[in-house]
Amino acid sequence: MELVIIGNSSPFPGPKGACPGYLVRADGANILLDCGPGTVAGLQAFCPVEELTGVILSHLHPDHAADLFVLGFALGLASREGRLQNRVPLYLPPDNTKRLADLCDAFGDLLGFYREGLTIGEYGEGSLKIGPFTLSFTPARHNMEAHLVKIASTDGILTYSGDTGLDMELVDFLAGSNLFLCEATLDPEEEHPSHLTAAQAGLLAAKAGVDQLLLTHFRPGADLERKKRDAAQVFSGPVDVALPGARHLVAKKP
Ligand SMILES: [Zn+2]
Repeated sequence: MELVIIGNSSPFPGPKGACPGYLVRADGANILLDCGPGTVAGLQAFCPVEELTGVILSHLHPDHAADLFVLGFALGLASREGRLQNRVPLYLPPDNTKRLADLCDAFGDLLGFYREGLTIGEYGEGSLKIGPFTLSFTPARHNMEAHLVKIASTDGILTYSGDTGLDMELVDFLAGSNLFLCEATLDPEEEHPSHLTAAQAGLLAAKAGVDQLLLTHFRPGADLERKKRDAAQVFSGPVDVALPGARHLVAKKP
């Protein structure tokens, strides 16, 4: 399984950057995980939109979801031009279909066109099978409905924090992850119930015993070396920072 970083910024993209968007690939299948501003432009360097196998949103905050409104245009057009074999399934957090429909309505009755290229569904507490991947979800500690996402294939297990505050009850869900892609929004002196410092990301990684920690969700201009050091003081495994264009192998330990 390969994880490609499209964007790592929040709550807005820096120069030539993008907000959270991650491409997860295996066996010819392409899952887009979150779709923040800049994702659709960056995605196409790696995968034409018509080759997406599915789109998963951790939550609907604009830094994670705003580019969905242009991805819908791209997929609708791909369908009309005969480039799209099958509509791409979009999975939203539970009870968010109406929220999305209301947003599409506010933007000018876009849902009809989007549905030419997308099917719209929701994930829940159970698991979801998309191509070679099995996905599962658990609620995050965030200021709107948000979920952590676990993606498993025969290669390994990737877990993504989405946006979350610290709660040690999340450790059980993270256990067994070969790669943990975790937000590290906050500076060390900050406290916020909806986000993590790099040290808190390291703490979750250490308690869960994941193989590798990959930090993401940075304010433009953040000191990424410091974040890496802060996490490494708590988590003894490999720590890296997610950078746009970087590709990471997700694999079981040999
Ligand atoms: Zn958020």
